[in-house]
Amino acid sequence: MSEYRNMTKEELLAEKETLLKKFDEFKAMGLNLDMSRGKPSKEQLDLSMDMLKPIDYTEDGFDVRNYGLLDGIKSCKQLFADLLGVEAKNIIIGPSASLNLMYDYICQCYCEGVLGSTPWCKLDEVKFLCPVPGYDRHFTILEHFGIKMINVPMTSEGPDMDVIEELVKDEAVKGMFCVPKYSNPQGITFSDDTVRRIAALKPAAKDFRIVWDNAYCVHDIKDEGDTLLNIFDVLGDNEDMVIEVCSTSKMTFPGAGVSALAASDANIAQIKKRLNCETISYDKMNQLRHVKFFGNVDGLLAHMKKHAAIMKPKFDMVIEHLENELGGLGIAEWLDPKGGYFISLDVMNGTAKRVGELCKEAGVTLTTVGATYPYGDDPNNSNIRIAPSLPPVAELDLATQILCTSVKLAAIEKLVG
Ligand code: PMP
Repeated sequence: MSEYRNMTKEELLAEKETLLKKFDEFKAMGLNLDMSRGKPSKEQLDLSMDMLKPIDYTEDGFDVRNYGLLDGIKSCKQLFADLLGVEAKNIIIGPSASLNLMYDYICQCYCEGVLGSTPWCKLDEVKFLCPVPGYDRHFTILEHFGIKMINVPMTSEGPDMDVIEELVKDEAVKGMFCVPKYSNPQGITFSDDTVRRIAALKPAAKDFRIVWDNAYCVHDIKDEGDTLLNIFDVLGDNEDMVIEVCSTSKMTFPGAGVSALAASDANIAQIKKRLNCETISYDKMNQLRHVKFFGNVDGLLAHMKKHAAIMKPKFDMVIEHLENELGGLGIAEWLDPKGGYFISLDVMNGTAKRVGELCKEAGVTLTTVGATYPYGDDPNNSNIRIAPSLPPVAELDLATQILCTSVKLAAIEKLVG
């Protein structure tokens, strides 16, 4: 089929009629399919059930069932140190999810400032750079603290560094959230050049902080995954600028995993001082369960291969539908990521919300359209985040067909009404 924009009105209306027939058939199935959030499937969750078998809860003679060890047990700190390529002294093991670590860190900057700087709450304006499309919950944290969000476009190599280098000249720009590997939602891994340019930034604000959310650090789907340069290896004098976080949410159990934070000595000291007021210690039994379950980083990577085997057919299925049904029509673009949890689909400008409505009508829930942009405002109304992990393959098959039909219908409505 030729591009929609080269078709006559009559041809488009005939195509619309065929699509509507198909759409009505889908509607008649009374479906209830969920592609809204990046949740692991039941099959993936089952992979980690062995972790819950009884173990000896002592480490180096210390009973980890009791209070103590604010920044985590030694073996768990070492596991994350090895995973992230930093020293164990630069790791804090956090609660059961990394969003807590991110929220708490921004809250700390807001309440007490950064290593002696003016607390952000006392400043007239605080701005953050937000690579877009991005992760909605980062935006929610920033909005909660009244931090003004500035969109920075993503490129195939990561955020547009020319734009960032310009924007950081403004002293009110205090930081940036990044998902450097298999970004949410595009699945883009920052190139070495991008990581080096980020590491070399000289922001006007001395308290500029980057939250390096490495949520998908080991989440390859294809055999040959992407490689991310370790930013701590190239930060040099800028070592205080980056706070890295990750978690086992999508390795073991979301909301019941282990999170970790990596940062410079100075940042770790400030965070620990605050943490000392916040808690006595996190869940060290869970930390030890994770260490015993994975053994070491090699064990963790082997476990992630099992996740990949479940995820790959789902991602392949979505990409195949997109190629077969939307390829060559000139109404949609997407990336085929090598890992992560999402496929980002850009439909014809001005039609994404309509696609969301049509999908809903036919029983498919997508991530709220617009959520991939700060304030829920996608200026082009074009980005849709597809989360293929949760539904079984057969459901995903149907859901993606409905999505493709909706994308085409919305485009024709836009072109000829
Ligand atoms: N960061 C990103 C980029 C994510 O996509 C997610 C999960 N959707 C999280 C963080 C949440 O991680 P956690 O469960 O550790 O809070």
